[in-house]
Amino acid sequence: MQPLESWGRYPAARQAAVSVHWRSDPLPRVHGTVLPFGQGRSYGDCCLNDGGTLLETSRLDRFIEFDQDRGVLRCEAGVRIADILALTVPRGWFLPVVPGTQLVSVGGAIANDIHGKNHFRVGTFGGHVRALELLRSTGERAACSPGENPELFAATVAGLGLTGLVTWAELQLRPVQGPFIDSETVPFRGLDEFFALDTDSSQRFEYTVAWIDPRPRGLRGLYFRGDHSARGGKVPRPREPGPFPLDLPGFAVSGPTIAAFNALYYARGRLRSGRKQVRYGPFFFPLDGVGRWNRVYGKRGLLQFQCVVQDRAAVRALLDRVGSSGTVSSLGVLKTFGGVPSPGMLSFPRPGATLALDFPNRGAETFALLDALEAIVREAGGALYPAKDARMAPATFAAGHPRLAEFERHVDPAFSSSFWRRVRAA
Ligand SMILES: Cc1cc2nc3c(=O)[nH]c(=O)nc-3n(C[C@H](O)[C@H](O)[C@H](O)COP(=O)(O)OP(=O)(O)OC[C@H]3O[C@@H](n4cnc5c(N)ncnc54)[C@H](O)[C@@H]3O)c2cc1C
Repeated sequence: MQPLESWGRYPAARQAAVSVHWRSDPLPRVHGTVLPFGQGRSYGDCCLNDGGTLLETSRLDRFIEFDQDRGVLRCEAGVRIADILALTVPRGWFLPVVPGTQLVSVGGAIANDIHGKNHFRVGTFGGHVRALELLRSTGERAACSPGENPELFAATVAGLGLTGLVTWAELQLRPVQGPFIDSETVPFRGLDEFFALDTDSSQRFEYTVAWIDPRPRGLRGLYFRGDHSARGGKVPRPREPGPFPLDLPGFAVSGPTIAAFNALYYARGRLRSGRKQVRYGPFFFPLDGVGRWNRVYGKRGLLQFQCVVQDRAAVRALLDRVGSSGTVSSLGVLKTFGGVPSPGMLSFPRPGATLALDFPNRGAETFALLDALEAIVREAGGALYPAKDARMAPATFAAGHPRLAEFERHVDPAFSSSFWRRVRAA
């Protein structure tokens, strides 16, 4: 088995890995702690267990039952979102919440309580989980749902893999008429224009998100919005793109190359702005077009900073800080969360604006910028997203997750992660 790493490839971790094959299997007996591992699409260390063992779930990938009339799907936790959509879209059903890549597992989607471009309408992934089974280190198999073992359910949704192994889950899907999205791209300049577009779009569209280029000369971006289309059509067999063939040297993703790429992407977006119908793949998962694109950043990898803040002034302060730092963000995304309550004790989404910025890992220089951004978020009473984090201080985690003490009572003592040990360090 290839050594397992997170998407950002930072921090490095040395750990054993045991593959889980069947939902009926007992937990393997190992020395030290265990942590479930889905597809390793988390950027930081919430999917790593340095010095321990990972329970690798990619072979826990069977569909169990699909009620096509009600759109209720039961599957093992290692099934990927891509596999679910390939099965259900031709039958008129879609997942209510999908992230920016379809190459994540159901277990990972639950454990980070992921959000999509329609958070303001439907909330998080966990809100559409009807039931799940949790395998604890005692051998107990706990059936959990909002009505059965509700506390353990609320701890497991966004539970970062720390309450046990989710073996299967039952999901409520939403009806669609076909694979197409009626989409529109609108170029914009400046934060005020973003927020005006966002206020208008969130009333008229189900899905909204902006790609941003936070240049020192001023923010510019492309606002994407869309709805499921009434147009029917064939669903092409999903093609897995080949992996990016090599680890590029660190200098390949430099300030000037990023700036040139961003300028090109913006210009292309402006030229192609307006309305069109696109298949769901390019609309929701544009980054999946190149397999293992994180190799572009070389072996040192990348860090993503994703926060949520309620105050628009804090978004401005964050972007100003990046602009004045001399460090160029290689990918920026800005969207807003709505008020649908998140079901997990540690769920990240809450009302406000969520800003995500990728940075090539340049060591001390990048860490200093991330520390400065983290301080702005703390000051603003916001939170950082554990799925994307490799750096936040224990105090930031605690401040951003007020139900932490309640959550801790449900952690399985045999489960741990590099993230957990870092953010719980005294
Ligand atoms: C290009 C890209 C775009 C993304 N876009 C978004 C987005 O729009 N919204 C969003 O919310 N996130 C987004 N993400 C983050 C991603 O959705 C989450 O990190 C997700 O949790 C990854 O799932 P995974 O299967 O890879 O799990 P991993 O990263 O392997 O693990 C994540 C967590 O889940 C736990 N886990 C995995 N399987 C199980 C199981 N069976 N039982 C219990 N715990 C388990 C692990 O222990 C770990 O704590 C994006 C990531 C990438 C790379």
